[in-house]
Amino acid sequence: MQQFKTESKRILDLMINSIYTNREIFLRELISNASDALDKLHFVSLTDSAASRDFEIELIVDKPTRSLTVKDNGIGMTREELENNLGTIAASGTGKFKEENKLDEQMIGQFGVGFYSAFMVADKVTVVTSPYGGDKTYTWVSTGPEGYEITEAPSDGGQSGTAVVLHLKEDTDDFRPGDFLSEYKLRETVVKYSDYIRYPIKTLVTKSKKEEGSDKYVSYTELETLNSMVPLWARPKAKVKKKEYEDFYKQKFNDYSDPAYIIKADIEGGVNYKALLFVPAHAPYDYYTKEYKRGLKLYSAGVLIMDSCADLLPDYFGFIKGVVDSPDLSLNISREVLQQDRQLKVIAESLEKKIVSEFKKFLKNDREGYEKMFGEYGASVKFGIYDKFGAKKEQLKDIVLFYSSYEKKLCLLSEYVSRMKEGQEFIYYACGEDVARIDRLPTTEAVKAKGYEVLYLADSIDEFVLKTLSEYDGKKFRSVSAKDGVVKSEEETEREKTAAEENKSVTEAVKKALGDKVSDVRLNVGLKNHAVCLVAGGEISFEMERVFNAMPGNRGGGLHAEKVLELNPDHAVFARLKAAAGTPQFDEMSEVLYEEAMLIEGFKLDDPAGFVEKINKLVGGV
Ligand code: ADP
Repeated sequence: MQQFKTESKRILDLMINSIYTNREIFLRELISNASDALDKLHFVSLTDSAASRDFEIELIVDKPTRSLTVKDNGIGMTREELENNLGTIAASGTGKFKEENKLDEQMIGQFGVGFYSAFMVADKVTVVTSPYGGDKTYTWVSTGPEGYEITEAPSDGGQSGTAVVLHLKEDTDDFRPGDFLSEYKLRETVVKYSDYIRYPIKTLVTKSKKEEGSDKYVSYTELETLNSMVPLWARPKAKVKKKEYEDFYKQKFNDYSDPAYIIKADIEGGVNYKALLFVPAHAPYDYYTKEYKRGLKLYSAGVLIMDSCADLLPDYFGFIKGVVDSPDLSLNISREVLQQDRQLKVIAESLEKKIVSEFKKFLKNDREGYEKMFGEYGASVKFGIYDKFGAKKEQLKDIVLFYSSYEKKLCLLSEYVSRMKEGQEFIYYACGEDVARIDRLPTTEAVKAKGYEVLYLADSIDEFVLKTLSEYDGKKFRSVSAKDGVVKSEEETEREKTAAEENKSVTEAVKKALGDKVSDVRLNVGLKNHAVCLVAGGEISFEMERVFNAMPGNRGGGLHAEKVLELNPDHAVFARLKAAAGTPQFDEMSEVLYEEAMLIEGFKLDDPAGFVEKINKLVGGV
């Protein structure tokens, strides 16, 4: 007897003791596995005619022994595959539980737990399998968590495939596994969950007919196909309920939440394809890592060619799942050749456009839903603008959102522009760690005080996105903390000039005290309640300095933004500073003001203890 892996054992326990009301989903799971096995052999048959056959699934009932068998003539399993696939939780689908580390009723129902769900209705499961191209038949038997046994015998020379034989549990008052021995129940369950499976799911049904030449009815049995076999994406949209799409998604893509958005495409013309795409409600935990595997399932006229075709989606739409089915792809091409297929490129381009136009629709019809989705994938879409030197920026600029000071909500660039004040030349933005901090930056406040809306960029990629766009609708972007962040009125400019001249000795002394920490020190009359602020003197912004220096291996190479310290000549602090000119405190005050400005901008101080010491001195005179 071989042991199950711990994780499998846990799930098995759960299945056996399940009081879950929808235990009938075990049939959906087994049929889906059978269908996958047929897909695999179907694919082999494209280049190996020996593998071609009438692919089908059969449900076999044996009332006397209370057994129900799900049989397919698919690819079968080798001994290793049997051990790996049925002895442990498969890496796909069910494996997700490892990471979720929780399993509840809802998850069983929506997500399914694959093969193991058989134990919800059966107290003994036997799997008899013959791998394609092999010469043996393997039998796997288990009665539960104690373990399983595998035996082997020479193959009888028949077709490859797998039969999963369930010995159904005894009926009780509240659950009757025995119902699955009836034609009615099987038909009902297949139609409910597996109608779209593209292989016939057959079972022997009893019928009666009039005996020839007499009035007597005789009964006879006949294999009948229970499902309609039309894949969901091939059915007319109007005939498919939203719930059917949602169930299909959850089943096919192992998710337990309904998708956030569904895209259906049926394109005819230069290129022909049908697509059924889904935006998962939640980004996969590994979406923003290298491990994430993106791609769509690719079918050619209903035959699965590739389980995950990455070339169908641009990187920035990599979160989208779904199927694409095109009759234009030649079937006998290998997967390597497929990647170069011109047809495939044309489909990918068409899909990309379709997704963008669908997102615009989504945005228009359900702003709240779109914003929620954008919360999950916005960084990815924004990356699309920045990537490839902005090749896609025109296409994407109207589906990205940025947080705005106006109503404190996400907004489109077009919305910002439509609200611009008369004479406003720039689209203003401010960068920082989070919205609350950005809101309190002296430079942000100064721009807002002029009545201008400010975009708050809290995503590290944001500023790069704006730099790539460079303008929107003819309006250039301008950082509030750039030199000349805000255009000043004539009166202000004049006043600033006079103040600068009058206080030249003060700013020069501050600059001397700070040395090479700053590239310049000057006055700013627009700072309202703030005594100081820091602005970038050159092209490199503070945000860029932070992003580059936070990169792994410090690819920024110690990149530095030029720092310009601006002092508010109308602030009481400035008057104190001026009064201290020539005293030993002056240099320390200058340093404190610079360090304050650094802190407000979100920088770390090189010497926080030194800062505190200076403050204590100023406050306590010690
Ligand atoms: P999942 O289908 O989510 O991968 P399952 O537990 O249902 O998980 O199945 C585990 C694996 O066992 C499958 O991925 C497949 O490789 C294999 N398997 C299950 N049923 C069959 C079958 N009827 N024919 C061939 N292989 C099968």
